[in-house]
Amino acid sequence: MTVLYTDIRELVTNDPANGDGDPLGIISDAALVVDGAEIAWVGRRADAPDADDRVSCADTSVIPGFVDSHAHLVFAGERSAEFAARMSGQPYGAGGIASTVAATRAADEATLLAGVQRLAHELLRAGVTTFECKSGYGLTVEDEARSLRIAGAVTDETTFLGAHVVPAEFRDDRAAYIDLVTGPMLQACAPHARWVDVFCDRGAFDVDETRHILTAGMAAGLDARLHAGQLGPSAGIRLAVELGAASVDHCTYATDDDVDALAGAAGTTVATLLPGAEFSTRARYPDAKRLIDAGATVALATDCNPGSSFTTSMPFCIAVAVRDMNFTPAQALWAATAGGAAALRRDDIGVLAAGRRADFVRLDAPSYLHLAYRPGVPLVCDVVKAGQHMAYPSSNPENVESRS
Ligand SMILES: [Zn+2]
Repeated sequence: MTVLYTDIRELVTNDPANGDGDPLGIISDAALVVDGAEIAWVGRRADAPDADDRVSCADTSVIPGFVDSHAHLVFAGERSAEFAARMSGQPYGAGGIASTVAATRAADEATLLAGVQRLAHELLRAGVTTFECKSGYGLTVEDEARSLRIAGAVTDETTFLGAHVVPAEFRDDRAAYIDLVTGPMLQACAPHARWVDVFCDRGAFDVDETRHILTAGMAAGLDARLHAGQLGPSAGIRLAVELGAASVDHCTYATDDDVDALAGAAGTTVATLLPGAEFSTRARYPDAKRLIDAGATVALATDCNPGSSFTTSMPFCIAVAVRDMNFTPAQALWAATAGGAAALRRDDIGVLAAGRRADFVRLDAPSYLHLAYRPGVPLVCDVVKAGQHMAYPSSNPENVESRS
């Protein structure tokens, strides 16, 4: 069954073959045809082929579904009091994670699953059609494996983050915890994970520990990604490049050498920036222009987590990225879609072209520019994932019901 989506005022394809060769590959007055779960055709409305069904997009804009390549969704409890304290002047440190670890260990499986499903729904409503989900609030063999099983209920992009912080019971014996992470915990978690990740930063794991943990994860068949450079300069960024990690995330304190390394590895290692984290910790923002001008591949992700970035809104992240991180609106949209797909090493998503998965978002706006131009306004009004309508968050259903 084929469906023609037509009357698209502005279609962002992320296919430079379209439009004027710009990375966003914008087609004005456009249409697209979906066949089952895939895109079958993209082009000018006047050239559109026939289809079994027809949906008018009512002169609005359509963009690829957002790809959120960095999220921590399996946890219990929340930390709004800590946020309020921080906004009252207390600094952010990695130690706050411990309170979420305690709540997560104490929660039953149904509670954790319900929490993950709620956040997955929030992401979908915000236009996110693919997201990654990390463990990292269990920090025991059983609790990490349980977290990954629960993450696997909502996404295939699951990440083992046993090396989030050293839990309190191992405070005096870090080496024993690292042995656990690289031994029994990895063994129990690897069957449920695609990725291995480490929080390489002050108060978490140093570069030597990180190398040891990532290498063990890779030997167990997982692909590497890394948190580095959030709280201060870190050799972790160059380690991620050296190990061929798919992504190094935060990069807030990237040095000139780090930027050069990321530019040289643009086809392998993505620099993923997380504006929600700087926003919610009132920290300095990284400079995306510096990375992009150097030639690095850059992604934007939510970093959704209860401590330092409790948002599921990619449009919010785009607005902050444009306002405070030196992205152009076009670069921010690319980073939140095709950039996220690159950070997850996915070539089936992030681009609207024949043969790709039919994941796209209709915005109640004439242009994607409104994502940053109208911050905080819920512009996502229709979400299609693998060809299926997933949500109708807007109160304007006649736009999507006009099938003939
Ligand atoms: Zn994170």
